[in-house]
Amino acid sequence: MPRRRLRFVVSAGPTREHLDDIRFLSSPSSGRMGFAVAAAARRAGHEVVLVAGPVSLPDPPGVRTVRVVSALDMRVAVLAAFRRADALVMTAAVSDYRPARRRAGKWKKGAARLSLPLVRNPDILAEAGRRRGRRVCVGFAVEVAAPLRAARGKIRRKHLDALCLCSPEAFSADRADYRILFPDRELERYPWIRKGAFAGRLVDLVEELAARG
Ligand code: C5P
Repeated sequence: MPRRRLRFVVSAGPTREHLDDIRFLSSPSSGRMGFAVAAAARRAGHEVVLVAGPVSLPDPPGVRTVRVVSALDMRVAVLAAFRRADALVMTAAVSDYRPARRRAGKWKKGAARLSLPLVRNPDILAEAGRRRGRRVCVGFAVEVAAPLRAARGKIRRKHLDALCLCSPEAFSADRADYRILFPDRELERYPWIRKGAFAGRLVDLVEELAARG
């Protein structure tokens, strides 16, 4: 059976939350997983918008890549693309907090001790999940932060079709242990798999979930 051409939105990489014009809070996410999903979806014939935080990877061929910096920028770009999409795969390591105030220029050192007030960033995936309708929504979580019970809670709260749990090596290595959790079926295990191979499996899964409607 020919595949239905789907419109994918994929997020990738970290976000940067600036405290002044130079420094920021972020994470070491390489963006490789999201770029691999975007490339695999494109190769399978789908239309892809990739919303990428600051990473050093080139735009995948044939993919519309939107470069963003902060979680607030990523929210705007993801939700705009999501409106006319069939599926969202949110691999980005979105910073949960941002400095309450961004100072212009460079924050000069002075006091021996400083407190930095932070405010919560919006949860982009949860917001998309609330307005998903029949769209497919897939999230990612690093395993240390998401043992199975917490992960199941996330699936429910964010209205997800699937949540991919990865081991902490996923931040830096080309391979990691992945598990996919579902709201309504047995989990799938992918021990020590290459990100490219796991990306291919995810695209098949999104096609399957989209076909189910
Ligand atoms: O941080 P957490 O474990 O809740 O992340 C799970 C999923 O939610 C990931 O797919 C991540 O991209 C997404 N997320 C988000 N907005 C946030 C935090 C996380 O979309 N502010």
